[in-house]
Amino acid sequence: MATQRNPLVIGAGPAGLTAALDLVHRGVIPRVYESSDHVGGLARTPTAGQWRADPGGHRFFTQHEEILDVWKQLLPHDEWLAVPRRSAMLVDGHLVPYPLVGRELLTRLGFRSGIRGAGDLMWSRFRRGMRAVEKEQTFREWGIEEFGKHWYRMFFDGYVRKTWLSDPNNLSSDWANQRIRPIDWRRAGKRGDTDDDVFRYPRLGPGQLWDAAAATLADAGAPPSLNSPVVGLHHDGRQWTIELQNGETATGDAVFSSMPLQLLVHMLKPAPPKHIRAIAATLRHRSLITVAVALSEHRDIPFNWVYTPGADCRVGRVQNYLRWSPALAPEEFTGTYLGLEYFTVPHDDLWRADDQTLRAIVERDLQVLGAGNSSIEQLMIIRSQFAYPIYESGRERNVVRVRDYLRQNQPGLHPIGRNGMHRYDNQDHAMLSALRSVGRYFGENVDPWLVNTDPGYHETGLLRS
Ligand SMILES: Cc1cc2nc3c(=O)[nH]c(=O)nc-3n(C[C@H](O)[C@H](O)[C@H](O)COP(=O)(O)OP(=O)(O)OC[C@H]3O[C@@H](n4cnc5c(N)ncnc54)[C@H](O)[C@@H]3O)c2cc1C
Repeated sequence: MATQRNPLVIGAGPAGLTAALDLVHRGVIPRVYESSDHVGGLARTPTAGQWRADPGGHRFFTQHEEILDVWKQLLPHDEWLAVPRRSAMLVDGHLVPYPLVGRELLTRLGFRSGIRGAGDLMWSRFRRGMRAVEKEQTFREWGIEEFGKHWYRMFFDGYVRKTWLSDPNNLSSDWANQRIRPIDWRRAGKRGDTDDDVFRYPRLGPGQLWDAAAATLADAGAPPSLNSPVVGLHHDGRQWTIELQNGETATGDAVFSSMPLQLLVHMLKPAPPKHIRAIAATLRHRSLITVAVALSEHRDIPFNWVYTPGADCRVGRVQNYLRWSPALAPEEFTGTYLGLEYFTVPHDDLWRADDQTLRAIVERDLQVLGAGNSSIEQLMIIRSQFAYPIYESGRERNVVRVRDYLRQNQPGLHPIGRNGMHRYDNQDHAMLSALRSVGRYFGENVDPWLVNTDPGYHETGLLRS
């Protein structure tokens, strides 16, 4: 039975590679098509000589044993680092540790700010307590309720505007509970490295894991085909045919697709009804430009990540790469290696800026951040077009309508992963949706769309052996 199966996988990011690995594990050889010249998708490790960069700062953590098992099988124990999580927000010239700690908020930003923040928070909590029914909230409403007006404005309003490129009044709060940790009132300012504060990280960046996955697939006779964008998808009632940009085609009994959901719908033949295409067209993404920049001067920054909500610089977040893994830089390097993250959309000036213009923006931001006097030894620009599915109001309903249409009309088509399901997945959820989809293909009673629907905060128990 298994030998009659010939599935096709679109995309060699975490979801596509995981689907392919599981298919191989079950005795089926898939064909994997990847549009770019690398595997790993958003979680790749771009390189320039001995320099490596992480496009997004990928913390590896999961609450799912089966994902942990995949990670452990792909990379040996000594290739994993245990990295203490240290983030901060740069506000009014102060580095405030994040997730926010109550005692720090009350003391670090001055007495008046502390009192005001605490007063606003109590008022918000009182109002929440008085609310009779739960209702859908915008991000701004959620933020004020969770942090009080003063601390919401100080830490989140500017940051969300800069990173989501949207007014917080127009953003839904669906993702916020999962991603933003509440204020910790129990802990003192200094953190101990409990399991909650430590994540795993491949020594050579996130792509090391996905390169290992691709090597495993190649050994099994299923190497991903790189530089192979899928541009068409046709179902003739019996089998699937995908069309590649170079004109080649491939046929199969099922398709696992991690390409953006709206593009998938747009490519399908026979074309879905007009209203489904219109709904799919509303699903949009934000893009990310990461500039990895090595500075000659050494700075001891005790954080892996610094969020920069201020309007005085354009960068939204800065990674301190050597706190992730020293192996991201050449061994002899003694300076500071940063990853400046710029959030953008494909039609704005930043996305269209050439390398020289971007370099000028980076140099200006480094001045604002106080690192302008150090010479730049190395600079690498990484563009990720489909970085973040945008959570606009109505997104959930629209995704469900597309999902239901595909389920009813194309049961052999399995959307998987972050963009494939238009959901704000981390790697583990993208992988899990792939595993569940393969399970469904084999007739198991599982639902990939139920992955990542837990509204609670995700990052507990990050480091589990
Ligand atoms: C800034 C940032 C920070 C992040 N931090 C973390 C973190 O700390 N921890 C964590 O676990 N996750 C993190 N993530 C999320 C993580 O990157 C994603 O969850 C993961 O990469 C999703 O995998 P995927 O395979 O679903 O999608 P992708 O990684 O997007 O891979 C999809 C692949 O499909 C290919 N493709 C698209 N269209 C086509 C086509 N038509 N034909 C062929 N191939 C195609 C793409 O080129 C890509 O390689 C972060 C993401 C970002 C942007």
